[in-house]
Amino acid sequence: MDDVVVVGGGIIGASTAYFLSKEGRKVRVIERDPAYKKASFPLSLGGFRRQFFQKENINLGKFALEFISNISSTLKTKNNPNPTASMVPNGYLLLFGPEHAEEQYEALKNHKACDAGTKNIPASKLKEIFRWINPEGLETATYTDNKIEGWIDPHMFHSALKNKAIELGAKFEKGDVKKITDIKAKTIVSAAGCWTKELLDDIPVVPQKHTVFRIKCPKHYPEMPLTGDLSSGVYWRPEGKEYLVGSPNSKFDCPDLEPEWDDFEKLVWPALANRVPEFEQLKLTGGWAGYYDCNTLDNNAIVGKHPKYENVFLATGFTGRGLMQSPGIGRGLTELITTGKYQTIDLSSFGIDRIFTKQKRTEPYVL
Ligand SMILES: Cc1cc2nc3c(=O)[nH]c(=O)nc-3n(C[C@H](O)[C@H](O)[C@H](O)COP(=O)(O)OP(=O)(O)OC[C@H]3O[C@@H](n4cnc5c(N)ncnc54)[C@H](O)[C@@H]3O)c2cc1C
Repeated sequence: MDDVVVVGGGIIGASTAYFLSKEGRKVRVIERDPAYKKASFPLSLGGFRRQFFQKENINLGKFALEFISNISSTLKTKNNPNPTASMVPNGYLLLFGPEHAEEQYEALKNHKACDAGTKNIPASKLKEIFRWINPEGLETATYTDNKIEGWIDPHMFHSALKNKAIELGAKFEKGDVKKITDIKAKTIVSAAGCWTKELLDDIPVVPQKHTVFRIKCPKHYPEMPLTGDLSSGVYWRPEGKEYLVGSPNSKFDCPDLEPEWDDFEKLVWPALANRVPEFEQLKLTGGWAGYYDCNTLDNNAIVGKHPKYENVFLATGFTGRGLMQSPGIGRGLTELITTGKYQTIDLSSFGIDRIFTKQKRTEPYVL
């Protein structure tokens, strides 16, 4: 019998394998597509932030920075002596209209309690800091300009975690797990992302297609933060000499990953040009689509021991935040598995019981 089997070798599987291996557990990771063609993490925007409403999500964002900042030493291996996640710490800027302002002022109290280091700025002052912005229709904003948020290269981060886990003894194997009960192991971790329901049919996590567009604009602002306009749902960030833009439109039941090209002209471009008038002159240069692991109950992570099994743990439902939460989730699950309870960030509010009792814990700031 195996000690630990992790199903899914994506970013959550790799992080969990790393933390468990560090604690001396013998980990086998089973991944059905080692090229990760449809996995969520390589198709993500790579963003990490602490600007959330809920304290657990704020604290997971804080730990992401701490962890990523140290990987040159913690994830160093013989094969990968200079691990990097290629961090770009440009910060995040979140823009709120009057409909979200009250909620945002409440969120700021949680930011303060967690010592998140975020700043609040009224819309009337936005142009003094961000000369490219049209603040019309906005009421308030939060941002960071102290290199505590930004984005990373998801592939490089995954590769660094996987390499270190392997050096510590973990085995990554190709395989397609059909039933969770087919696995014989002391501990089983389901890290199957948006495909979790195939293994655990009572977990309401499904693939939700999101499109990312690549654009070019004559005016380039390489220092621009990852900007999320919550009044339209559009978000964007610089990428080399271009920008990547996330569409607010998402779709369920899409077996293909063809980008929703029509949304660009109808929805995304008008919202962009409204907020950044220079984007009127942009040119669409490409795009892709990927699946969010969407928790249809409350858009929040589902993490912990599955109450119907003796030995099954799971982590899924991150709904657009799994990459940045992967260090905290891998560490937290390892604490739960090896000591019986969370030792650092208390993740019990993400527990599975709330799913069965339908007690929603909705995180409002989904991008
Ligand atoms: C367009 C887009 C933008 C995003 N932007 C961000 C962002 O800026 N920041 C952020 O933090 N997150 C972002 N995300 C979300 C993030 O990518 C996901 O939440 C995260 O990748 C989930 O990690 P995971 O390991 O659970 O799933 P995945 O990365 O999908 O990995 C799951 C793996 O499990 C394997 N698997 C599934 N079932 C089985 C089985 N039965 N047997 C064997 N293997 C199996 C799959 O092949 C897959 O490789 C974004 C996602 C998308 C699509």
